[in-house]
Amino acid sequence: MRQSSLFNPTEILPNEKDILKHQGIPEEHTPSTRIQNILSEAIILFIGEAKPQWIRAQVSRSEFKAIYLGAGENFIENPLENIYSQASNLALFALTVGLEISNKIENLFQQKEYALAAMLDSVASTAAENAVARCEKLYEESLQETDETATVLAYSPGYCGWHISGQKNLFDYLKPEQIGITINNHFLMTPLKSVSGLLVAGPPKIHLFKNNFDFCRSCTDKSCTERMWKINHPEEKNSEIRRTNGITTADFSQSSAG
Ligand code: SF4
Repeated sequence: MRQSSLFNPTEILPNEKDILKHQGIPEEHTPSTRIQNILSEAIILFIGEAKPQWIRAQVSRSEFKAIYLGAGENFIENPLENIYSQASNLALFALTVGLEISNKIENLFQQKEYALAAMLDSVASTAAENAVARCEKLYEESLQETDETATVLAYSPGYCGWHISGQKNLFDYLKPEQIGITINNHFLMTPLKSVSGLLVAGPPKIHLFKNNFDFCRSCTDKSCTERMWKINHPEEKNSEIRRTNGITTADFSQSSAG
C-alpha cells in the first residue's frame, strides 16, 4: 500500500532549544535579544514558506532484501540487516520540508542576510528530524489494529552501514518524485531538506544493538544511543537524564546485532 500526505508546518515545528542547539548555542546559554529576534523571524518564515510532505509504501521482508542489497556496497556487518529481518512490518518512506524553504535560505544567503539564512537552515533541518519522528508515529498508529505493541524507528541509506547507493533502489520502488523529491548521480536529494529510508516496526528489543561496528569509530553524533535509550526508558521523555547518568550503549545488554 502506498500513501502520501502533507504535514502542517506547525506539526513539525522544532522547539527553540533544539534550533539553538543546532546552531551550536549551548542550552545553558541565554541567547542575546538579537539572536532571539532572528530566531523568531526564522520561525515565522518557516511557517509561511515550508510545504512539508511525506510518502510511504509498505514492503515485504523479501522485497526489502532485494532493495537493501542494492549495488552490494553495504558493510557486511551492520545493525539494519539483523533488525529488519526480525521486523513485523516494513515501509519505505521519504519526506521533505519543501523546495520553497531551500530557495528561501539560498536567497537570504545571496542577499547577505547570513544570520537569518543560517537560522532558517537550522529550523528547516531540525523540522526535517521532527518530520521523521512524526512519520514513525504515523506508521505506528496505522499498525495499531494488527500490531499494537510495535515500535517504529526509521533507518536511512548513508548511515550505519547501509550504503548511500541504496537510495537508487529505494527511489525506484517508492517513487518520491510524486512529492517532488529527486536524487542526482551521487544519490543526494533535492530539495536538500529531505529524508528517505525504511520504517521498521516490531518489538522494541529488535532496535537494540551494540554500536561497535567498524564504521561507528568515525561516527560523531552516535544518535543510535539516544534512540535506544528512549526504547529502554519509554516512561522517560527527558533525554537530559541519559546524558547526566552517562549511560552508554554498553548498557544495552539485549543486543540484537553486533
Ligand atoms: S554509533 Fe553511529 S554509525 Fe554506529 S550504529 Fe550508532 S549511529 Fe550508526
